[in-house]
Amino acid sequence: MHSNRKRLLIVGGVAGGASCAARARRLDEEWEITIFERGPFVSFANCGLPYYIGEVIVDEDDLLVASPELFRDRFDIEVRTGSNVRQIYRDTKEIEVEDIHTGNVYREGYDALLLSPGSEPLRPGIEGIDLPGIFTVGTIPDTRAVVDWIKSSRVSRVAVVGGGFIGLEMTENLKKRDMVVTIIEMQHHVMPVIDPEMAAFIHGHLQSLGVELCLGSPVKAFREAGKDGLSILLENGNSVPADMVILAMGVRPRIELASSSGLSIGKLGGIQVNGQMQTSDSTIWAVGDAVEVDNIVSGKKDLIPLAGPANRQGRIAAESILGLNSDKCRFRGVQGTAVCGILGMTVASTGITEKRLNQGGDDGLRDSYEKIYLHPDHHAAYYPDAKTITIKLIFSKTDGRILGAQAVGQEGVEKRIDVISMVIQNGGTVFDLEEAELCYAPQYGSAKDPVNLAGMIAANVIKGYLNVSHWEDMDDPNIFILDVRDKDEFEEGHVPHAVNIPLNTLRSNLERLPRDREIRTYCYVGQRSYFATRILIQKGFRTSNLSGGFLMYQAVKKILK
Ligand code: FAD
Repeated sequence: MHSNRKRLLIVGGVAGGASCAARARRLDEEWEITIFERGPFVSFANCGLPYYIGEVIVDEDDLLVASPELFRDRFDIEVRTGSNVRQIYRDTKEIEVEDIHTGNVYREGYDALLLSPGSEPLRPGIEGIDLPGIFTVGTIPDTRAVVDWIKSSRVSRVAVVGGGFIGLEMTENLKKRDMVVTIIEMQHHVMPVIDPEMAAFIHGHLQSLGVELCLGSPVKAFREAGKDGLSILLENGNSVPADMVILAMGVRPRIELASSSGLSIGKLGGIQVNGQMQTSDSTIWAVGDAVEVDNIVSGKKDLIPLAGPANRQGRIAAESILGLNSDKCRFRGVQGTAVCGILGMTVASTGITEKRLNQGGDDGLRDSYEKIYLHPDHHAAYYPDAKTITIKLIFSKTDGRILGAQAVGQEGVEKRIDVISMVIQNGGTVFDLEEAELCYAPQYGSAKDPVNLAGMIAANVIKGYLNVSHWEDMDDPNIFILDVRDKDEFEEGHVPHAVNIPLNTLRSNLERLPRDREIRTYCYVGQRSYFATRILIQKGFRTSNLSGGFLMYQAVKKILK
């Protein structure tokens, strides 16, 4: 017998589900709220799991953000763990639940139902993928299994299949446990969510720390190789030995419940929702990894399996379910803002990549974007321990709208991407970056912060003060390549066929430059060559500046061979 209270039932008790439940309770004391979670824990920190394996987080309890008791006592929310929701009966507004421990199957009625079932780690049907010693990392029981295997099999060599966020975080944590790690990635670079030339910096960093990279070849089979050993065969014929394999091959939305009950599923395979996170059934909401949402930059649907969107969507769904503030509560969309730490290097990105623009997925943007690279210090160069950040900014050539940004470095990387991400969310332009008023004191930044510098360079391009060329444009034999660095720098290495005229002697050597050919000018990072470019343009030469300079060119050539 149920009370007369309205009933909100929630499927999935972690990021989106727990967030919705707690927000709903804070806004309304009357609704009866129940969370059904098929796993043994609710509200656990899945993002912290790699760090538990790396023994950075030593106490497993620290991964538990909230317990069922806390939900009951503080929020008057009932949590049923070990409870698998098997079916939705939309006509009677009921769900069917299986108690995993007792096998008991029962139904519960709802006034509102929220689905936050998350995503499933990909485990493709590769030969041998179910052999002992091969793991995914998505839950606390998964991490327990990994830790137990490490102990019982005395693991020293690990193959991480997949070089995305989870693969890199696992690599960092396994290295912290002194293991020999090989990353196997079927694409030609790690971190598929950034562009290859930016990933080149991560490749160099990983290789300098002894992480082996097997790029550009998918796994063909997993085979047993001696006691507790495995051999991973690649499509290119190579094989990698390992005592343990971590699969980090991506995720797919869990949509079985939604699709079997006839809710609309989008083209990308996620549950379709509106801005209030409402599905095609007005009494059912869905959030998190399982849903398709609008990408703010491309205007198209996207699947972005990240904790931030799941949490924010959970809050919006709660307000929508309670019928509150419908005019102010709308999910704005995603832009894929993300960060990953990898053994002292940080890589962060927001918006869309050049790769994606060139794949033609974002009509109208493909032919109208420009990009710039820069390598500013994370704080004033004269203050000790300044570290370089390499930034790539992608923007519309026509109106300066920012389309995406990526950055790698040791310090201050995520701060810059966070700032740019907010400008993107507000539909802002490179001129907004140019004018952004940001914190400055020598130990934190510079009077011209890296974000301002990115805006200034891009604004110069749009205003016509600067033409940029890029690392991939430098091998054209018809172009005159001008290196304006000092002689000793030039002699240490330069772009093939480049002519060296140091910046300080440029004005007195103009007769050495052709007036009938384009001149591509470069220096080490792009600043001196910008000065040179400005001189040459005003003297009537056709010229452009190699964005990101020789540093970018050299890094890419060395690593993306
Ligand atoms: P989840 O938080 O995964 O919750 C879904 C829950 O639903 C699961 O517990 C599942 O058991 C339960 N469930 C599913 N179906 C049913 C059913 N039928 N009945 C009952 N229960 C069900 N994101 C970041 O932004 N930054 C990070 O650093 C980061 N690191 C990560 C590291 C790892 C190892 C992992 C696995 C993920 C990481 N993520 C990170 C991604 C982030 O955790 C997810 O995007 C987020 O948790 C998604 O929230 P969700 O509510 O959609 O799903």
